[in-house]
Amino acid sequence: MDGALSTRQIAVIGGGWAGLASAVAASQRGAKVSLFEMAGQLGGRARSLPGDALTPGLDNGQHILIGAYTHSLKLMAALGVDIDQAFLRTPLRLRYPRHEGLQLPPGPPLLSFARGVWAHPSWPAKARLQLLLAASTWLARGFSADARLSVSTLCTGLPKCVRQDLIEPLCVAALNTPAAQASAQVFLRVLRDALFSGAGSADLLVPRQGLSTLMATPAMKHLSAQGVHIHLGTRVQTLAAEDSAWRVNEHRFDQVILACSSSEAARLTQVLAPGWSAMAQNLQFEPIVTVYIRSPGSALPAPMVALQEGPDAPAQFVFDLGQLGTHPGLFAWVISGASAWVARGLDETANRTLAQAQQEFDWASPPEVARVLAEKRATFACTPGLQRPPMRIAPGLLAAGDYVAGPYPATLEGAVRAGQAAASALG
Ligand SMILES: Cc1cc2nc3c(=O)[nH]c(=O)nc-3n(C[C@H](O)[C@H](O)[C@H](O)COP(=O)(O)OP(=O)(O)OC[C@H]3O[C@@H](n4cnc5c(N)ncnc54)[C@H](O)[C@@H]3O)c2cc1C
Repeated sequence: MDGALSTRQIAVIGGGWAGLASAVAASQRGAKVSLFEMAGQLGGRARSLPGDALTPGLDNGQHILIGAYTHSLKLMAALGVDIDQAFLRTPLRLRYPRHEGLQLPPGPPLLSFARGVWAHPSWPAKARLQLLLAASTWLARGFSADARLSVSTLCTGLPKCVRQDLIEPLCVAALNTPAAQASAQVFLRVLRDALFSGAGSADLLVPRQGLSTLMATPAMKHLSAQGVHIHLGTRVQTLAAEDSAWRVNEHRFDQVILACSSSEAARLTQVLAPGWSAMAQNLQFEPIVTVYIRSPGSALPAPMVALQEGPDAPAQFVFDLGQLGTHPGLFAWVISGASAWVARGLDETANRTLAQAQQEFDWASPPEVARVLAEKRATFACTPGLQRPPMRIAPGLLAAGDYVAGPYPATLEGAVRAGQAAASALG
C-alpha cells in the first residue's frame, strides 16, 4: 500500500472486471473504497451463472485471453489465481473440423509468424506470400491505419482463403464485430500486440475453471480483507455534485469511479456532463450468443475448434468443455457479432447451430441443445471512426470500463487497464 490516498473516500460504481481492477488499485493506494454493484454477484459480463440441474455452473459466455493481456493476467495472479492451473495455454493454433489452419511455432514473434504462415498446410504459396507481404506493410507503417478504414477494406487485396480462414475469425473473435463493419485501426493494434510484441503474446489462454473463480471470487476476498465496503444488489440511482465532493445515492464521497455499463454511466451523468453522457449513450452494441450442446462421450479434435460461418452456420468457434476440465460432454458454440442471428430468433439460431454441429463432427451420442445464452449488449460495436468517451468526465469523476477511449476493443484486458488507469488518476 502506498498510502497516497489515505484520507480519501472513493466510490466505485460497478463490480465488473473494470470496477474490481479500480477497487483493488485504489485500495492499494490507501483510499477508503466503497464498491456498489447492482447485481447480486460481482464479475459483470464475465461471470459464472448460478446454473440449473442440467447445466450447473456455466459461464455467461466463453471467454479467451491472449498472452498479450498482461494486465489482467498479473491482476489475477496478484489475487492468488494460479494462472498455469486456471488456463489452458497454447501457442496460437486455428484448428478447423477437417483441417489445420494457421499454427504458430514457438520462438521470437516475427519469426514465429513468418514460419507459421509459410508452413500453412492448405494455402497456396501465392496466398502465403501475399499475407507475409501485407503483414510487412502493416509492420512498416507501425500497425496504424486511417481511423475510417474497415477491416474488410484493409484486407481487400488478400486472397479469399486468408480472409476466410484467418482475418474474419480473428476479427470477430477479438472485436465482436464482423470484418465489413470493424475498425481496421483497432484490429491492427490487437494484431500488433498479439503477433509482434513479446514472446508468448499470441498464446491463447482458455479458462479451465469458471470465470468467477478467475476474478469475482478472489477479488471479493481480497477487497473484503482490505476493508473495502462491497454493496451487492445496490443500484446507484443518483449521482450529484456536492461542494467539491459527490453524492452517490445517499452517501458522500471525495471522488467517484464510474465503472458501470456505458448506458448507466450515460444516465448518471446526463445533467453533470451532457457532452460526455451523449458520447456514452451513442455507442452501439453487438450481441454474443452461446449455444451449449450436450453429447455424452463425445470429444472434439481439439479443445477449441474454429468454424467456417455461413448463412446457415452461425458459430465461428466451438469449445470442448470436457477437454477444458469443467463439463465433460458439453460443448460451447460461440456466435460473435450475432445481431443478424438474434434478429432471426434464438430458437432458429439454436436449431441452425445444432445442424452445424451435426454436419461438422461425428458424435458418440446424438447431440442436443442444452442451453442458449444471449448477451444482447455483449460489447460495443467496434466500428471505424468510433468516438469513445474519455476517462475524465469532470474533476473527481472518472470513467472505467471496456468502452472508455483506449487502444483495445471491448475485452477483459481493456476493462482491467481502464480500471487501473482510473485508479491511478485519482488525486
Ligand atoms: C458472451 C461474452 C463473451 C465475451 N468474450 C470475451 C473474450 O473471449 N475475451 C475478452 O477479453 N472479452 C470478452 N468479452 C468482453 C468482456 O466480458 C468485457 O469486455 C468485460 O467483462 C467488461 O467489463 P467491464 O467491467 O468494463 O463492464 P461490465 O462487466 O459490464 O461491468 C459493469 C458492472 O456495473 C454494474 N452496474 C451497471 N449499472 C450500475 C449501477 N447503476 N449501479 C451499480 N452497478 C451497476 C453491472 O451490473 C456490471 O456488473 C465477452 C463478453 C461477453 C458478454
